[in-house]
Amino acid sequence: MELLIRTDWPQFANDVADVVRIFFGAVPWKTEPLSAPARECGESTLILSHTEEKAEGNVRVLVRASGACSGRAEEVYRPSDDPLVEKRLHKRAIKLAAYRLLKAATGMTPPWGSLTGIRPTRLVYAKMAEGLSLAQAVQSVRETFDVSPEKAALLSEIIGRQQTLPQPTGREMEIYVGIPFCTTRCAYCSFLSGELGDGSLVAPYVKALLSEIAFVKDLLGDIGFFVSSVYVGGGTPTSLDEASLREVLFALAPLAKGHEFTVEAGRPDTITEGKLSVIREAGATRISVNPQTMHDETLRRIGRAHTATQTEEAYALARAAGFSDINMDLIAGLPGEDEAMFRETLARVTDLGPDSLTVHTLSIKHSSVLHLFGAPLPEGAMVAAMQRMGLEATHHMGMNAYYLYRQKYMAGALENVAYARPGCECLYNVRMMEETGHVLALGAGGISKRIWPAGGKITRAPNVGNIEEYIARTKEMCERKKTLWSNA
Ligand code: SF4
Repeated sequence: MELLIRTDWPQFANDVADVVRIFFGAVPWKTEPLSAPARECGESTLILSHTEEKAEGNVRVLVRASGACSGRAEEVYRPSDDPLVEKRLHKRAIKLAAYRLLKAATGMTPPWGSLTGIRPTRLVYAKMAEGLSLAQAVQSVRETFDVSPEKAALLSEIIGRQQTLPQPTGREMEIYVGIPFCTTRCAYCSFLSGELGDGSLVAPYVKALLSEIAFVKDLLGDIGFFVSSVYVGGGTPTSLDEASLREVLFALAPLAKGHEFTVEAGRPDTITEGKLSVIREAGATRISVNPQTMHDETLRRIGRAHTATQTEEAYALARAAGFSDINMDLIAGLPGEDEAMFRETLARVTDLGPDSLTVHTLSIKHSSVLHLFGAPLPEGAMVAAMQRMGLEATHHMGMNAYYLYRQKYMAGALENVAYARPGCECLYNVRMMEETGHVLALGAGGISKRIWPAGGKITRAPNVGNIEEYIARTKEMCERKKTLWSNA
């Protein structure tokens, strides 16, 4: 199916397309002005026409559908004199009208209602900032955006949990360090990470990264900020050889000392006793060993060069090395998997007993191999059932949900949820996801963020994503950080 949006407000067309994706997944779309000649179309095209009229100080937004489905819906809002508020109200009205129309036309009840953003918790926090209690704020978001009771309960659990965690003081910095190498590329991957190949980029990359780490140490002293957490991600940090891993982690150790220090070991086939010793000696407090699934045929299908048994072996090695805080990641809806397979994966992971578990929902982004081969998203109801299993299993393990985020092109318009035993929540992830903590991001593709106290405005300083460019332009990346933090 393709989508044609007829509108004189093309600046909102992308938002309308986001709403259509809730119901129909990724569809190609284009816009044309309302003055374009009306056209007939078959069931392979959905035409959404968006018109507006003003009456008694209000704006009435009307959306009509023809082609693949038909119907009409409207939303009325009171315009604001503040251009930013007006834009938000206007956009919300168009999205709500399109959502109501498509919900009635399809008979579907999307779990997150009309919400299309990455961070649904943000809306609840905004309501709480207006003086509502958590329960009132969740109820308000639920009613406004037609969020299901199940997801409203998830929001309550997450925000309730986040409120028990240490809050940023405004003078703390979260440090992110990206290692953009992986042994093979996962079929669903949309990151910039490069395959390790012959490893020739590792040494120059590590050298560049070490110079950026040294710069950041000085910068933190100059601006008078102290470190709250260090997170080494990627990519797969343990795809580095032991000596390179040692150089990077030992350079970070003085910054991370006494703070949360996470290393994403990630791929079980890259984890060795020697690398685990390096990670421990550098003082890391938390690592990830990520199975994604415990089914070997799926692992082969998605391009991961390890087995479920290797995951169990890597996990045992990590425990034997003394790690008391181990995270694992799973993906619900992987190609060829059904509910029974996901249940088996959860059972094997439960037997291992991780301290935190993140249950992702498969999303097929345009830059992934799955998209290239035209793989369809799995059926939404099945993946929703898998997410429910994840929630039950983690609760059974004594964990609570503590952050979530959504992405485009996700199966069932669902979400990724992180669960942890009390005390094992990753502060870096919470602050990064909720955008409540300043971030200094090092390495190719890292995006540093400065959160301004008034109004939560955020300014960013991105590092270039290409590995060779990063190596050649490290000084410039450092200068970008300095500029971001001038007048701190
Ligand atoms: S491990 Fe992560 S970064 Fe590496 S290829 Fe897989 S999804 Fe991409």
